[in-house]
Amino acid sequence: MAVTERLYYADSHLIEFEARVVDVTDRVSGWTAVLLDRTAFYPTGGGQPSDTGTLEGLRVVECIDDGDKGVLHVVQGVAPARDAVVRGRVDWPRRLDHMQQHTGQHILSQAFVTLFNAPTKGFRVLESACEIDVELHEPTTEKIERAVELANNVIWEDRAIAIRNVSSEEAAELTLRKESSREGELRLIEIDGFDLTPCGGTHAFRTGEVGMIAVRSWERAKGLTRMEFVAGTRALADYRKANRSAREVAALLSSAREDIPQLTAQLLEENKELHRQIRVLEELAAEVEAGRLLATAVDGVVTQVFERRTPESLKKLAQALTTHPGITALLGSHDKDAARLVFARSADAHGDMNALMREACTMLDGRGGGRPDLAQGGGKNIEKLDAALTQAAQSLKRP
Ligand SMILES: [Zn+2]
Repeated sequence: MAVTERLYYADSHLIEFEARVVDVTDRVSGWTAVLLDRTAFYPTGGGQPSDTGTLEGLRVVECIDDGDKGVLHVVQGVAPARDAVVRGRVDWPRRLDHMQQHTGQHILSQAFVTLFNAPTKGFRVLESACEIDVELHEPTTEKIERAVELANNVIWEDRAIAIRNVSSEEAAELTLRKESSREGELRLIEIDGFDLTPCGGTHAFRTGEVGMIAVRSWERAKGLTRMEFVAGTRALADYRKANRSAREVAALLSSAREDIPQLTAQLLEENKELHRQIRVLEELAAEVEAGRLLATAVDGVVTQVFERRTPESLKKLAQALTTHPGITALLGSHDKDAARLVFARSADAHGDMNALMREACTMLDGRGGGRPDLAQGGGKNIEKLDAALTQAAQSLKRP
């Protein structure tokens, strides 16, 4: 079986090529895998997702590294016949994006080695960002920003990036950023005067092509420091998104973008204080309201229905009422979906609020309960709210 010649090894900017179909195999889900004698398509591997594109007009949805056999091109539609000569085209924006992230990772990883002797243990290109796991001792934002600074300087120095194919004996004489597990000839990626590491991915021709690198966030994960970073076009997209959010918040606060953290902290503090004041006022209002409702008491029982009152507010009112001696409060409230009840009595009043509540909630097709002196509940049968309260008041009268 012929081995696919990997054109992307020699030229990461080659996006159009001709090749001969070596093999065609049906795959599950009705797609077809095409094996070519040569390809510019990069297959998924080394933390870098596969290229996409077209093969003789057919959509190439994914490329899979089949080891010694070569690269499998998964296509939709009727695949070309064996031995046919086909024209392939790689999606350039996606390839450029992956090259920027991948080359950016080489640069950022070497920056951590240079500054903190901290090797990279893992790398993934995700949907909109990338992740690296670095063995960074005592991570801080300052340390990470120093590495980002160095990485960007290397990008802006626009250093050349060369591919060096060496034997494992030659490689043993060189200082590589990471060891390779591969036998035989090694493919090394050399960033002029900065980094030398074995890698089979697609890389920029010069560091300037990466554009810039920014670390979005970091956290400690399994003894390593996991960083989310973006390079190139992703960094620009991320900047636009972050800038838009910041400007929208700034407009809401009628302030400059730079002032929003301080202003927001201030607002949150004010909000906390307002909530405290509202609680004080609610207690006060409940006391005043209780004073008014006491005048409506019949044999010490206050029965009242409200509209759209929160359970919390009902409970506060019931508590304010029952601070007075000999009082039982049977309170209800409803909105368009549900009815709520709070039953409470003073310490010296009689009656089991829990039992009354269970009875009332049965009428409301709901549930509720509590203690002998305070119970809460509710249900969906709003029409029965008045009847449930009347019944509770009558049950109280029974000895
Ligand atoms: Zn690489």
